[in-house]
Parts: sequence; C-alpha cells; structure tokens
Amino acid sequence: MTGRQKPYDVIVAGGGPAGSTAATLLAQHGHRVLLLEKDSHPRFHIGESMMPRIAPVMQRLGMDWGEGNLQKSGADFIDEQSGRQLFFPLQGRYRTYQIERSEFDRKLFDNAIAQGVEGQQQEKVLEVDCAQNGVEVRTEKNDYQGRYFIDATGRSALMGRRQRSIQRIENLGRFALYRYFQVGHSPQLDDVFTTGNVKILLADIGWLWLIPMVGRRLSIGLVVQQDKPKGIDQQDLYQQYIDASPLLNTLLQDSSPLTEIKVEADFSYLNQRRYGLRHACCGDAAGFLDPVFSSGVFFAVKTAEFIADRVHQGLQEDIEDDPQLHAIDDPTYQTGFRTMHLLIERFYSSRLIHNLVFEADRHPRIKQEVTALLAGDLWQENNHFQQGLLRGRG
Ligand SMILES: Cc1cc2nc3c(=O)[nH]c(=O)nc-3n(C[C@H](O)[C@H](O)[C@H](O)COP(=O)(O)OP(=O)(O)OC[C@H]3O[C@@H](n4cnc5c(N)ncnc54)[C@H](O)[C@@H]3O)c2cc1C
Repeated sequence: MTGRQKPYDVIVAGGGPAGSTAATLLAQHGHRVLLLEKDSHPRFHIGESMMPRIAPVMQRLGMDWGEGNLQKSGADFIDEQSGRQLFFPLQGRYRTYQIERSEFDRKLFDNAIAQGVEGQQQEKVLEVDCAQNGVEVRTEKNDYQGRYFIDATGRSALMGRRQRSIQRIENLGRFALYRYFQVGHSPQLDDVFTTGNVKILLADIGWLWLIPMVGRRLSIGLVVQQDKPKGIDQQDLYQQYIDASPLLNTLLQDSSPLTEIKVEADFSYLNQRRYGLRHACCGDAAGFLDPVFSSGVFFAVKTAEFIADRVHQGLQEDIEDDPQLHAIDDPTYQTGFRTMHLLIERFYSSRLIHNLVFEADRHPRIKQEVTALLAGDLWQENNHFQQGLLRGRG
C-alpha cells in the first residue's frame, strides 16, 4: 500500500486546543483527518487566562471564542510587601478573555468535527509506529493507518516520553495548588470582574494567580518554585499563602470554595525531538513552560498552526515522509519558546520584577516591548528588549 492510499491522511492524538486546532486546519486544507481523544468533552482542564495573539488562529478556525467568557483587559503584577503594582494593558488589536476551559476545549473539538474531522472520544492512543511507508496507530479499541501522525497529547507527551526526549527545565515553578471560589459583591470585587485582569501576586515561595471568571467565580492558584517548607502539607501551604495576602483576604470575605484544592505538577520541559519520520508534536507535547505569563494555550494553537500548514504542504507535494519536514519552522518555535522561557527565568530571578516590571512606567519603550511579548507578539523584528533577552542581556 502506498502512502497515498492510506485511510487517513493525518491521525491526531489528543483533542485539547493543540489537537483540535491542527485537525481543523488540516481538514480545511481538504485532508482526511482522524482526531482521537482519551477523555470525553466537556472535561475539566486548568489554564483559563488567554493571550490576545491566539485571536488570529481562532479566526482561521472560524471560532467565536469570546462568547460567554469574561473579557480580560490586562495583567496586574503586585508586590504586597512593598505596595508596588504595575498594570500591563492587553487591549490592542485583539481582544482576549478569561475562558472556561471545559467549554472552550469542547467547542474547539466540536468545531473540528463540524469542519469535516472524524473525531473519537474515550479512545486512548496506546502505540504509534511511524515507518517509511506510513503510520500505524493502536488505540484501546482499534488500529488505524495514516500518512502522518501528530502528537497533541499535552503533558502526557506520548512521543516525547516514549523516545525519552523530554528535557526538564530547572529553576522555574515546580507545582501549582489551586481552587475555585464563588464570590459575591463588593466594590473591590466588582472592579476585579469589570476589568477582567489576571493578577499575579509575588510570594517568597513563588507567586499566586487570581483569575476572575464568569458567574462571579475566582480561580486562585499558588505556584511553588522554592523548596516546600518541611512538615507542612500542600493544602496547608496553599491556605497559608492565601491567609498571608491582604488582597486575597479582602476579596475572599464571604466567599465559598467550589472545589477541593487541586495539584498540577510535571512542570517546565522541552521535548528535544519535536518532529521526525512522518510525525510531529505540538502544544504541551512539544514543550511546556511555567504558567506565570499565561502562554500555554497560545503556544498550543500556534504550534498546531505551524505543524498543520507544513504537513499540508508535505501531503500535497508527496514529501510528508521527509523527517526534516518541520526543520524550516522549528527555529521560529524555538525563538518564541526561548523568549518566554527567559522572561519567566527573569521573573523568578527578581531582576525582571524589581528592575523592570515595577520600573517599566519610567521606561515606556521597554514597557511597550514587554507588553507585546505578554500579548504573544514573539516574532516581531523590532523588539529590542526581546533581542537583548535572547542575547543574554536584560
Ligand atoms: C497550573 C497551570 C496553570 C495554567 N494556566 C494557564 C493559563 O492561564 N493560560 C494558558 O494559556 N495556559 C495555562 N496553562 C497551560 C495550558 O493549560 C496548556 O498549555 C494547554 O492546555 C496545552 O494544550 P494542549 O492541547 O497541548 O494540551 P491539553 O490541553 O492538555 O490537551 C491534551 C489532550 O490530549 C488528551 N490525551 C492525552 N493522552 C492521550 C492519548 N494517549 N490518547 C488520546 N488522547 C490523549 C488529553 O485528554 C487532553 O484532552 C496552565 C497550566 C498549568 C499546569
């Protein structure tokens, strides 16, 4: 059987933002695509605060992604100890939102199906064999053949873990503890919901996020970067840092928790083998960074776009078996990923926060350039701050 006669042009594992985006774009290009998701939508997923630059990808997908979500006007960085605070406005050309991930991911998956993707839920991919003449994918229920395989399995990173190519990135956050709260009304709370800002609160152990969501709900998380103090369990640690924050105490007066305290680990890493013979990885399966600048879903849909467009070219020109198919786009991905990695590293090393973030109002050009990066504008040629960062300055 030649590659051209395989039942599917592309088989995608993982129906999160990366997988649904890649599948939809390939279906739009006219390819026969199978999308396999181990869970069933809607399913819970952390990661609610979006970067504005996902909007052009949403437009390509034909998604009205703002509907039903809270508009976000920017990010507040707050040091309660010193009383310093800085606002980065993210209201440029594109609007952005604090989204309900279960709904967002479901809509993306349904949109893929509506655009011609064959989707299967509750079907976990177990094995993948990418060979010279095609790919074989084995799930809990079936065996499938195709011409190309895309790994969009998130932090499960199917291919990366199988190939042992996941390289951990040290010194960023190690794990997150978070919980959702129902809150009522107060002038301060009303302000939080009117602006829709994400708030990043500095803490000696890492940082806390506060994300307002529709239905008067707050998502509040603690990301731990330092060694956890001995003798205290995770639940108590979370509560200790909430209690220590005057702002959170005020906002959470008369609130009720909606969930238990949840934990997410498996933090920052880069998959060193992001593509190869008849396969490529996108989203968290390619790399994952500490969520302080809310870059995860942006990288998910952006890498899916890069991969889908290049796979389309490969299939069209019958060169999809070239193991170097993605070599042309990968440096672009690496520039974006490295920029964000360095920015996060600077955040933790405190130079960024104290020398730059809180002083940024005195340096409008720098503030504008950092704001562009926080919006997802990672590939502009004239961002001097980014160039300095990549050259090891800043
Ligand atoms: C604590 C924390 C906070 C975060 N906050 C933000 C934020 O505010 N903003 C932001 O943009 N990002 C945030 N992120 C990151 C964001 O959630 C992810 O980057 C994003 O979900 C990546 O999308 P994805 O499609 O690559 O992976 P996922 O969304 O994880 O989707 C992968 C899918 O693959 C499925 N799957 C896994 N294995 C298999 C298999 N073998 N077969 C079939 N299906 C499989 C899974 O069920 C899942 O549905 C946060 C992450 C963490 C940990």
